[in-house]
Amino acid sequence: MKLSLSNGIFSKLSLNGNFAAVKQLGFKNIEFNMKAIKKEHDRDVYREQRALAASGLNCLTLHSAVLHVKDPIEIHQAVYYGKISLECARALGVSLMTFHSNVSKKLPLNIRERCLNEIFNDEIKPFARKLGIKLALENLSYTSTGFGKNVSQLEEILSVIGDKDMGITFDLCHTLETKQTDKLMEKYGMRVCNVHMADKSHVPFTQPKPELCCFMEKLHSYRYDGPITLELHNGTPMEEIAKSKALFENLLKKF
Ligand SMILES: [Zn+2]
Repeated sequence: MKLSLSNGIFSKLSLNGNFAAVKQLGFKNIEFNMKAIKKEHDRDVYREQRALAASGLNCLTLHSAVLHVKDPIEIHQAVYYGKISLECARALGVSLMTFHSNVSKKLPLNIRERCLNEIFNDEIKPFARKLGIKLALENLSYTSTGFGKNVSQLEEILSVIGDKDMGITFDLCHTLETKQTDKLMEKYGMRVCNVHMADKSHVPFTQPKPELCCFMEKLHSYRYDGPITLELHNGTPMEEIAKSKALFENLLKKF
């Protein structure tokens, strides 16, 4: 397994300041969160590309920009966010993109299905395939406006957009909040290709709590060897991030 930091935590900084903060903490790998870009402009992907190359950081994954569609009129915008995120992933040399269902949990079933079809089957999936980028659906929390927080919701999404290539980004913070850790792991353990790592409310783990160790053992039992991406809330103090990094560097020696 490879330790990584989501740079969404430094989204208020300029891109160079963002990468500098990641490096100051001693991380080598990042998940590039599209939140780090203030506003999406197509040609900005070259700026992102230059900044990453200058930083020397290794970008393992990219977190897509997200719009939880509340009305089908917004489909084109969700498609744009997905595609510009894929373009950015390509520019950064990333082969895995984490995404949300992009549909609001308030939409009725038939509209959810239509939106998933039009966003993913018609647009995002063929584009990702063309660019050679694998997609990984993230489980959400009950606090999210998006759809996809438990096995039955994720199964509904996957029944529309899933295929054998579709991966899962397992967000432990979200499953701890929704009490779905074991159920999701049992169902999707083999498909996990990215892990978002934090305690509830995206607070960093700084101690080897039983639920964390149990989760790491389970991941290991599925022979998971992908990223462990620390995804922490914006106000996390630098010393807490450093403590969490030290904890995982130690834990990962076992796996
Ligand atoms: Zn997450």
